[in-house]
Formats: sequence, C-alpha cells, structure tokens
Amino acid sequence: MTLIEITVLLFTFGGILLGAQAGFNSADDLPGRVLGLLLGGVAGGGGGILATSLLMGGLLALGSFLEWWRPDYPRCRQGRCGTGAYSYRGSKEPTEADRHFQERMLREDFGLVVYCNCGDRYVTDPRRRRFLRVEADGSLHPFRRHRPLGRAWLPDEGA
Ligand SMILES: [Zn+2]
Repeated sequence: MTLIEITVLLFTFGGILLGAQAGFNSADDLPGRVLGLLLGGVAGGGGGILATSLLMGGLLALGSFLEWWRPDYPRCRQGRCGTGAYSYRGSKEPTEADRHFQERMLREDFGLVVYCNCGDRYVTDPRRRRFLRVEADGSLHPFRRHRPLGRAWLPDEGA
C-alpha cells in the first residue's frame, strides 16, 4: 500500500468514526442514536475524503511550485552558454560509455546529464542542489550550487 492510499483510508475511516461517535452522542433515545450514528458516519466519511483531497491538492501544488522555483541551468564554465543553451544530447552520437555514464548517474541518484553548446558535459543534482561538471573520463567535479529555496547559482567549493 502506498502512503497516499494509507492517508486516504486513515482520513476516511477516521472521519466515519468521529462522525458516527458525534452522531451517536447527539441523541438520548436509541432510534435517535442509531440515526445519528448513520448520518454522522456518512457525513464524517465525506468530510474525510474532502480533507484528503485538499491535503493532496495542497501537496501537489507545493511540489509544482518548488519545481518551478528551482533555478534553471547556470552559465557554463566557459561563460558562453546561458540557461537555454543546454541540451540532453551532445553534438555527437551517444557512445556506449555515455550510456553507461547516464545509467551510473541514475543509480547514484543524480539528475539529468546535459551538454552546453561548447560540448561540455554536466550533471544536475537537484537533491543536493548542485550542478556538477563531468570530465571525459566520467569523473565529477563541483561547479555550482544553490541554497535551499535560493535561485542564484553560487560557486561550489565541493564541501
Ligand atoms: Zn558552454
């Protein structure tokens, strides 16, 4: 079961239980209590589903905002290429080594491998807020980083 499914179930059943209990306690005679139990349960379940949708919608909105807020690519190390000058493929056909490198980056939890117009290779590291340059032999070198929620690229001293 995913976290989302667990949340939906918890909120829905929590709502049903709370609603049913409130409905049950709202009347003094038995028919009133049974009716309260049923109506309260239905209302509580509906409220739980509504609360889940609001929560999920909020999380989704927050996620896309953070994605949007993250800075684009920095100026390349030769100073010639700006944000829009990067591509996912270099000028030449990807070699076997390029493919292996890409797979290694995925395994090691990095982001995208990109090339600037000069032909230099870089890899994004959104989790650690870094942008690294990649040598021909596949070794990684610190290049730029940004602060949490920061939009400016700063020199990366590799600390
Ligand atoms: Zn460049």
